[in-house]
Amino acid sequence: MAHKTYHNIWEMTCPICGKNFIPAAEHIYDNGETAPVCSWTCHLEARRRKEAVKPKQRRFRSKPIPPGRDEDIRKRVSEGESIVSLAEEYEISTERVKQIIRESTWEK
Ligand SMILES: [Zn+2]
Repeated sequence: MAHKTYHNIWEMTCPICGKNFIPAAEHIYDNGETAPVCSWTCHLEARRRKEAVKPKQRRFRSKPIPPGRDEDIRKRVSEGESIVSLAEEYEISTERVKQIIRESTWEK
């Protein structure tokens, strides 16, 4: 092959399908955000994957605090219920339960 050296320098592996290819103008479909891919099909696949990832990154999962939670925790702890079982019920840390109890003493 007359152009072997040239090919060795420029040959790249497609990040989508893993195929080796020689980047040429028609291969550089991306806008600089991603590595060049071997074909239009792989470009569409790269874009699809990128878009599929976005909602996961943005998703913000946070449980709302049930109304009256802190009062309930303080009342039940004063009645002898364990911090661990309350922490499990409200899906918070035992440290948070202790903090809630401490907050009640500050109020008094
Ligand atoms: Zn490809």
